Amino acid sequence: MKRKRALIIALIYLISLFGFVSCNAGRKRYEAQFLQLFDTVTTIVSFADSKEEFNEFSVFIYDTLKEYHQLFDIYNDYEGINNIKTINDNAGKNPVKVDQRIIDLLLFAKQGYEKTKGKVNIALGSVLKIWHDYREKGIDDPENAKLPPMDELKAAKEHTDINNLVINQEESTVYLTDPEMSIDVGAIGKGYAVEQVAKKAEEKGYTSALLSVGGNVRAIGSKDGKGKPWNIGVENPEKTEDGSPLLVTEIVGKSVVTSGIYQRYYTVDGKNYHHIIDPDTLMPHDNFKSVTIICDDSGMADMLSTAVFNMPFDEGLRFVNSLQGVEAVWVLMDGQIKYSDNFQQYLSKQA
Ligand code: ADP
Ligand code: MG
Repeated sequence: MKRKRALIIALIYLISLFGFVSCNAGRKRYEAQFLQLFDTVTTIVSFADSKEEFNEFSVFIYDTLKEYHQLFDIYNDYEGINNIKTINDNAGKNPVKVDQRIIDLLLFAKQGYEKTKGKVNIALGSVLKIWHDYREKGIDDPENAKLPPMDELKAAKEHTDINNLVINQEESTVYLTDPEMSIDVGAIGKGYAVEQVAKKAEEKGYTSALLSVGGNVRAIGSKDGKGKPWNIGVENPEKTEDGSPLLVTEIVGKSVVTSGIYQRYYTVDGKNYHHIIDPDTLMPHDNFKSVTIICDDSGMADMLSTAVFNMPFDEGLRFVNSLQGVEAVWVLMDGQIKYSDNFQQYLSKQA
């Protein structure tokens, strides 16, 4: 199914370069979109002096992101590349030699596990796979959509100990010691990849761009390169007719990432079940419609958006307020909006 979808996406792959939409100190606004990476839509926006300059930038972003996409892929093999799927395929068999970028991602994910007391756990692969399979079947055949049986989920949970993910930094190898275990970097990989690509672009001297991979937004500098903030909308979980956002933020060089119940879900007996799984109950919960995180690092924002989504509101609020430079906005089930202590600074004055 994934493969089929990937193939369709590959076939309709497009890079659309819209002409200029607006001007900024003589520079024009350009935008490119790809439908091929991380199973979602990537959008690049930048103000540039010429179309050529923008093309060079967007090709660089696309090529770099694609490398991460292949390394972090859990569904597909690529010739000559050991990726996360290779690690999973070798669970209980062999340590796998991998690129440093995978080692760094996994170390980051392990830190995330510690920081969030296991609310985000990339070693949940065996549990997430069951949900994934039931969801895909349920989406294909809604009449017969079913929930995964709890004993199946509980049996899978026996194989989710992150300590069985063994990283050998000297040898550059990763080994899953439990043969039944697998890793799923869906909660972290995209944001982490966007962060690394943005950093590379900054190192190359780019000072003004916006990268969005499936709504995982990372700003490079400001809109005009001189401090004018980017306006980033936070999606309304209740889709409005004109697509207007819930609220608009203003950021310079930061990241805005949302985890929501409306992004990926299926319906069983009239109830929606989304794709973020509470590691304690092994079920998707009904506490919020979405959680959005703003902080400097997009990998951190992605990791935290999933983790905070899995925390009760009071615990999540305390947790976010305890973190330096991290703010959050929650949309509760009844539509109420809650903010962390210093979120206001990011709310757009114009909205
Ligand atoms: P999205 O990928 O839609 O932007 P998230 O960043 O919240 O949303 O990631 C959701 C994905 O993370 C799921 O599709 C699944 O692959 C994975 N996932 C779900 N629950 C957990 C969890 N508790 N810990 C780690 N990964 C999870
Ligand atoms: Mg996430």
